[in-house]
Amino acid sequence: MDVTAHFVLVPLMAQGHTIPMVDMAHLLASRGVHVTFITTPANASRIESDIQRARGSGIPIQFVSLRFPCEEFGLPQGCENLDCVTSREHAVAFLHACRTLRGPLTSILRQQNPPPSCVISDTMQYWTADMARELGIPRLTFSGSGGLFHLFRHLFLQNKSNDKVNNGAESVVLPGFPHHIEIARALIPGSLFIPEMAKFREEMMEEDCRSDGVVVNTFSDLEAPCIDQYQEVIGKKVWTIGPMFLCNRDAAYIAARGNKASIDQAQCLRWLDSMQPSSVIYVSFGSLARTSPSQVIEIGLGLEASNCPFLWVIKAGNRSAEVETWLSQGFEERTSSRGLIIRGWAPQVMILSHPAIGGFMTHCGWNSLLEGIAFGVPMITWPHFAEQFLNEKLIVEVLRTGVAIGVKTMTPWQVDKDVVLVKKDDMVRAVSRLMGEGEEGEAMRNRSRELGHKARAAVEEGGSSCENVTLLIQQIKASMKLAQ
Ligand code: UDP
Repeated sequence: MDVTAHFVLVPLMAQGHTIPMVDMAHLLASRGVHVTFITTPANASRIESDIQRARGSGIPIQFVSLRFPCEEFGLPQGCENLDCVTSREHAVAFLHACRTLRGPLTSILRQQNPPPSCVISDTMQYWTADMARELGIPRLTFSGSGGLFHLFRHLFLQNKSNDKVNNGAESVVLPGFPHHIEIARALIPGSLFIPEMAKFREEMMEEDCRSDGVVVNTFSDLEAPCIDQYQEVIGKKVWTIGPMFLCNRDAAYIAARGNKASIDQAQCLRWLDSMQPSSVIYVSFGSLARTSPSQVIEIGLGLEASNCPFLWVIKAGNRSAEVETWLSQGFEERTSSRGLIIRGWAPQVMILSHPAIGGFMTHCGWNSLLEGIAFGVPMITWPHFAEQFLNEKLIVEVLRTGVAIGVKTMTPWQVDKDVVLVKKDDMVRAVSRLMGEGEEGEAMRNRSRELGHKARAAVEEGGSSCENVTLLIQQIKASMKLAQ
């Protein structure tokens, strides 16, 4: 007799972690699996249209919204997502607050029918491991990043060898990788780790080791060497099931994925339709990175001087008045025939999938990279922090589908200084190399197109990621039968 599997998904509340887990919910539900997605009121309001649609259409996804204890942990009201956190103290308080969700969540899960059969949780929500043990179900981990970073995490953070390689401008070749990766010590992920978070990191790593497997949003043709090696060194199953966002082609979902877009979908599409194929550079740095006002202005000058059509997403944060003043002093007028600015949240997947997009200037967040890859878009890489400098290596040196803008230092997560790391001329050079008619750009475009085909094939019937979803569900069903 077939059993109904029930997957409980617990994301970290940060858009780069939550959005792919919403995609995962749709992917699993499309296979008839029952899914419970854990969120909080402020986060639920960002994906309200998705929640309503799931309810109305009978897709087997249940969204459970748990009260988040901001007040008890000294967080401002509504500070339920990492993108609202503005200090180290609040970042630590935020993670402490997450841990208190265990009690209420366990009680809710005990009442479920069908009962939960596994938890897939963000690695940072490591407290779900105790909960899974209490409920007697397996726990798989998910981190929002790709195979390269997973392998790095295991080889360096887990073994604490990052303490030996951190700090300093000189380059090191990272040992133990299937690719040659040479990177400045100061750009190695982990060097921005907040000391107060050391304990969290330790507990998280311990629970990673005890987990029953790892789910990664990547695909075999993209990262098989890293994934194979990672699987070997951790000695447990790694399920590559990406790019997950390709499983949901619903236009309304794509347009409001992760947040309500700050531009009308039809207006955005009309503008894109009016542009020549592959002519536009899309500029966006994800959900967490902040750009200082002077750097925003320098980007504007670079885009103007490049003469290339552009679609530019600006998140200038609490100093946006300075930026707005500058934009209104002639920039928007001078570039109106070939430039569109989105202030706030862009419908990124909708944009990247449009034939007018010919390049993507990105901060190298894993989701953004995967989205660009899946639509065959070559990139200009401008990493800011975390594992983004490693991801840049993958694009520029391993896959050779992008050009590095040339940043040599991390951009602090929360900008308090008016730093300018990239000059107008660096932008002009990079845009011309990527979008120009030279052989280099042409070769990158061809490789990107080929990779895009492979990404889409991976999630189609018979593709590696599609097969892995089947195997994952089978494995969980087998564990349910064993537990009976
Ligand atoms: N995103 C979006 N619109 C925006 C900014 C971001 O849809 O204006 C989405 C983007 O498509 C991706 C996610 O937010 O799915 C950002 O994740 P990523 O890993 O690229 O970067 P992070 O925000 O975690 O730094």
